[in-house]
Amino acid sequence: MSVAQLKEKPQYSSSQLLKETAVAWLERRGVTLEDIARLVYDVQQKYIRELTLAACRESVERVLEKREVQNAVFTGIALDEMAEQGQLAEPLASMLKSDDGLYGIDEVMALSIVNIYGSIGFTNFGYLDKVKPGIIGVVNDKKNEKVNTFLDDLVAAIAAAASSRLAHRDRDGRLNR
Ligand SMILES: [Mg+2]
Repeated sequence: MSVAQLKEKPQYSSSQLLKETAVAWLERRGVTLEDIARLVYDVQQKYIRELTLAACRESVERVLEKREVQNAVFTGIALDEMAEQGQLAEPLASMLKSDDGLYGIDEVMALSIVNIYGSIGFTNFGYLDKVKPGIIGVVNDKKNEKVNTFLDDLVAAIAAAASSRLAHRDRDGRLNR
């Protein structure tokens, strides 16, 4: 998103535009807000009575309004796409293409998202990263055709943060507000 494009749409704050751009980038990589909302539902339905998919989606939207989350999405997806298109130099190119288990920076970047709504996001992230439910498994299974080294961790982290946000709001009695 260029500065000129940001100026073209004065009806949005730049933060809103950045959020919409982050959502568009995720969709370009095959991940919708609905997919992430389902992960949140999967994680939190055991703990929050009367949890709805709509509340989960709302929470995902709020997480994506955070600038550091948007920046992690742009950076991680850009690296995945550059690796896919052969635009990265070695040794980074091979590490991203093979999703090298010792690379680790994909998880480190995801951690910048995980804790924005408290440390229970860390536990949620661990669960999602290990079990790989829903869209995380789908993204992970596409590794032969695409480079999704950052994407799976970004999606798990956004879902984890949205889940902890809901947990905190539920405790405060603010789930539907
Ligand atoms: Mg990864």
